[in-house]
Amino acid sequence: MLDLGMIIDGCQVMGQNSFAVFNPATGKAIGSVANSTIDELDRAVCAAKSAYPAWTALPDADRKAAIDKLAIQLETHQQKLAQLITQEQGKPLAGPGSNFEAGAAVAWTRYTANLEMPVKVLQDTSEGRVELHRKSLGVVGSITPWNWPLMIAIWHIMPALRAGNTVVIKPSPFTPLSTLLAVQIMNEVLPAGVLNVVTSNDQEANIGAAMAQHPDIRKIVFTGSTPTGEKIMQGASATMKRLTLELGGNDAGIILPDVNPTAIAEGLFWGAFINSGQTCACMKRMYVHDSVHDAVCEALLNLAKTIPMGNGMDDGILLGPLTTADQHAKVSDLVAQGAASGNVLLGGESGEGQFFHPTIISELDNSNALVAEEQFGPALPIIRYSDIDEALALANEFDVGLGGSIWSSDTDAAKSLAMRMECGSVWINNHGAIQPNAPFGGIKKSGIGVEFGEEGLFENTDMQVIFA
Ligand code: NAD
Repeated sequence: MLDLGMIIDGCQVMGQNSFAVFNPATGKAIGSVANSTIDELDRAVCAAKSAYPAWTALPDADRKAAIDKLAIQLETHQQKLAQLITQEQGKPLAGPGSNFEAGAAVAWTRYTANLEMPVKVLQDTSEGRVELHRKSLGVVGSITPWNWPLMIAIWHIMPALRAGNTVVIKPSPFTPLSTLLAVQIMNEVLPAGVLNVVTSNDQEANIGAAMAQHPDIRKIVFTGSTPTGEKIMQGASATMKRLTLELGGNDAGIILPDVNPTAIAEGLFWGAFINSGQTCACMKRMYVHDSVHDAVCEALLNLAKTIPMGNGMDDGILLGPLTTADQHAKVSDLVAQGAASGNVLLGGESGEGQFFHPTIISELDNSNALVAEEQFGPALPIIRYSDIDEALALANEFDVGLGGSIWSSDTDAAKSLAMRMECGSVWINNHGAIQPNAPFGGIKKSGIGVEFGEEGLFENTDMQVIFA
């Protein structure tokens, strides 16, 4: 059992109360963490505020070097972090699982350390010089979800630190351990107070809501559901906080008639079932042209049947359980609604405990709840289409717009369709690939702002124009 305290001003704080963290594959408690009070949140914000002047005054090269050291720390402990992710969240070590997640945390840290923040000269003439500067904000509050707990924490923390801010992070109550361990490891090389973590079960006190309203937090970066994002916007309005909101999605994939079904089967499968479908930008509904419908279903099924599900710590396992009991209940309900109207090609039923068998249901349409709602589980509804304009209209029908994909052997044709999809990222013959230099974010109710790249870094700054 791991008994981890919060990290406030460089010290472990065990708090008065604690709550348990469970392994979703076994149902057993694997650790306990402190249940923060509002006073403890205040202490963490105060520590971050006190550490801010020295951190932001560091020469840029020193801050870059400090973040580079964080990458080394994370890399040194990568295996331990990966195992903890599997134990608290459920994704397997192997495949696109927790080893991949911990490795991505290192890669994103290293990339962010090396981003530049140059002053932009807008004019330099005999009439004067106009410069655009980027100024750090102060204390950034980060609130993270449970699906990719470490990677998302790193996406929040690194650009905030790189831009000269200090941070208080609050992980999801379901998966706080990997964030606590990572922050502990990083605090070995960071000045006290620069990076703090508070944990809460969201029951006695809503620490996330208190962060959104906190007068000494200047920005909230939040990844989670759209309804929580709405509450954060409301809470943050009185203090006019900067916000980056990465929210829910319901990504569509459109399969054109010219695909080779066998060649795309693996990309389709992982595009939909990565992390047992508990990924914001993964394929949640697939529109397949009539002429290839049966062949695509068959190729996908042949592959899906071979993917082993189980405890992600075991060798060879590629699919884990659902992380929370609520999520399991929600997926079960939506799959039952899909099964009542469609043709169940695979799965359709729960496994033991929080496991759910990968499920593929064809002959559905946009009116079915399994298609219309973000189900966030290992289920893929398939919808036939015969006309590409109709498929695009169906793909764009809902009020979220995170990602989407077009599958075709004609890249140019696919690109022109991609531009008609209403979402922040569109992949061609892939779904969900991300890289640290490509801005990632949603449109419509999938969020505000972007992460990654220079654009993501600049969201952690205010602009100041100097007319000389
Ligand atoms: P959630 O919104 O329930 O919780 C996210 C975080 O918000 C948790 O840390 C939670 O404790 C905190 N929280 C809860 N109530 C709050 C409040 N009133 N104010 C402030 N914070 C509060 O989301 P979840 O169930 O942890 O994650 C799943 C959701 O996250 C899905 O909708 C998924 O699509 C979304 N997500 C989006 C992205 C993206 O990049 N767009 C990435 C991953 C997950």
